Amino acid sequence: MSAVLPLRHNWTLAEVNALFALPFNDLVFQAQTVHRQFFKPNEVQISTLLSIKTGACAEDCKYCPQSGHYNTGLERERLLEVEKVLTQAKAAKDKGASRFCMGAAWSNPKQRDMPFLMEMVKGVKEMGLETCMTLGKLDAGQAQELKQAGLDYYNHNLDTSPEFYGEIITTRTYQDRLDTLQHVRDAGMKVCCGGIVGMGESANDRSALLMQLANLPEHPQSVPINMLVKVQGTPMENVEDLDGFEFIRTIAVARIMMPQSHVRLSAGRTRMNEQMQALCFLSGANSIFYGDKLLTTENPEADADMLLFAKLGINPEQRHDVSDEAHEAALADAIKEQNTPSLFHSAV
Ligand code: SF4
Repeated sequence: MSAVLPLRHNWTLAEVNALFALPFNDLVFQAQTVHRQFFKPNEVQISTLLSIKTGACAEDCKYCPQSGHYNTGLERERLLEVEKVLTQAKAAKDKGASRFCMGAAWSNPKQRDMPFLMEMVKGVKEMGLETCMTLGKLDAGQAQELKQAGLDYYNHNLDTSPEFYGEIITTRTYQDRLDTLQHVRDAGMKVCCGGIVGMGESANDRSALLMQLANLPEHPQSVPINMLVKVQGTPMENVEDLDGFEFIRTIAVARIMMPQSHVRLSAGRTRMNEQMQALCFLSGANSIFYGDKLLTTENPEADADMLLFAKLGINPEQRHDVSDEAHEAALADAIKEQNTPSLFHSAV
């Protein structure tokens, strides 16, 4: 067994580029070796994501169907009622999710919304689920309020490199994002922060994004790596596809640089076949979103995920700090049900 290296926060661009340039097999082997030092190799954490407020966002993120700046035909919805959110959380838990993420398309939450958001967090937490929210920019006080309500994770992505950022968003700055992440850390919450690839960025930009993430004062506990979902009506609808191997390399390099973080295979999974997803898991991805919708873009059918897990011998990672045997059992049953000869035959 190789020695466990200390976590690093001083990566240089040259070092990151050198990892990307490794022969594919060497890179994947190194990523898998690092992965096994910190995680069970056949476990993947499952999160479910619910859009609690959809569309009409004031920001102009060029990839996003929820931006009010583009006409994507998306139906707008106001902030969901607390009861509705809790019903969805219960359904997610029954299907095996261990974390429930609630996303609102806002520049930032308004003070009048905070009591409702805090009720949602408390209710979801009481079910024994981990809680995560993504609400846009937070100030220090809002971060404290959410922490007090029981919020475990706050998602706020850096999206891309600082150099490419201005091509993607003009309504807020990279520094705004770093400031929100600082407030989240200061409040004692865990950070979920990653980015999107396949937006027409250069290889250097992908390296620089991972360098930014790994060189934060603490590695984000969750690192979602998204493949751009090209949505009609957004300025990115015709961007050239990113080569699949480049995506897998991004996962592998993220795993090596942030060895204790959950690296999440996130948006864009619908365009990946099973074999590509399996290579991502081999390269150190150990978290997925589960369910039929990923905010407003498609997500593979939940049953397809269970079938893939069964084929690969992957088990859902369990929370160890709560007693949720019922949901563990339900999930094990679901996998067993999928793992039958007839299903494998019909899947050929
Ligand atoms: S802030 Fe979020 S919801 Fe708003 S446009 Fe950007 S990505 Fe979309």
